[in-house]
Amino acid sequence: MARIRSDGLIFRKERRVARIHDPRNSFALTDVESEIRYDPLTGESSRICHFSLPAAAPSDLADLAEARRPGCPFCPGRIDVVTPRFPEDLVPGGRFRRGEAVVFPNLFPYDELSAVVVPVARHDVSMADVPESLVVNGIATARDFLSATLPRMGGDLYGMVTWNFMPPAGGTQLHPHLQVLGTSEPGSATRRELAAEESWLASTGRPFAPDLLAAEEEAGRVVGRTGGWTWFVPFSPIGLLGDCRAVLPGKSTVLELTDEDIADFAVGAHRALRGFAGAGLWSFNMTFVSDRSGERSGRHSLSARLLPRLYIDPVLHVPDANYLNMLLGERYCMVWPEEVAARLRVAFSEG
Ligand SMILES: [Zn+2]
Repeated sequence: MARIRSDGLIFRKERRVARIHDPRNSFALTDVESEIRYDPLTGESSRICHFSLPAAAPSDLADLAEARRPGCPFCPGRIDVVTPRFPEDLVPGGRFRRGEAVVFPNLFPYDELSAVVVPVARHDVSMADVPESLVVNGIATARDFLSATLPRMGGDLYGMVTWNFMPPAGGTQLHPHLQVLGTSEPGSATRRELAAEESWLASTGRPFAPDLLAAEEEAGRVVGRTGGWTWFVPFSPIGLLGDCRAVLPGKSTVLELTDEDIADFAVGAHRALRGFAGAGLWSFNMTFVSDRSGERSGRHSLSARLLPRLYIDPVLHVPDANYLNMLLGERYCMVWPEEVAARLRVAFSEG
């Protein structure tokens, strides 16, 4: 099953068959297939169990957003009163502003520099129509905030920009907000990825990302391009109902993004989110995977991961995580990545 390309990149997969007497079919002996796929960079595995799973946004989401508006800490009128402030020597004025976007410290910090970006005053935004201007505001503000603060923290750090949108993704406020970290410790997944990219560069003399994009293109999982960004659905999935990535070869940190890069990213993000929303999804995590600000080896290309999240059973609050991913570090997916790619390709072609 494994497919080894001349550049050494392997899309390795293994088919598994479980045999059961199926009560849904008069207990006939039935083969049920699943598949294990291995990430071509890190070798980490994920499982594809392609069962049908309907998803739908709650019908009362607009009502919920409206009910939360009077107490929303991120809406105009309250954001300047209830959110924390940075020390003056880090952020003069206490809060960082760019247009209507506001950055303030996380009341529950994950690290030395842990901030929240509220990109727009608008309270109610749906995944089906996240405005490009919101994405631009959020990322450009995060970039400018990190550019202003990381040097004051002593330099060679990871500037991380992440997003939890809506409760299934861990968003505790419905009002759109991103999270920004400045840290010397980017977390296990980024550390593993960078180490694997360093090994790839050392053994092939080439960075990994261009080889990966060429291989994903050949495999039919590239769904679109916006400026320098290539959007694709990875061979080895991480989302229960799919996920996608964007890669910008030639740049390795959010700090390096130009306004044009960010505008191009926003076009793709809007299309990808709309594509997932078309399948009934309404919540997502997004993160940029950045290298250290001082890294000059060329090992890493900046990427963004977009992971739709859901409640498997909204009534019983069954999440899309269980022992597999939480305890065993094994991701599982209920759709073929190639089907997700086909759906997103339509969203990208519609502009
Ligand atoms: Zn609000």
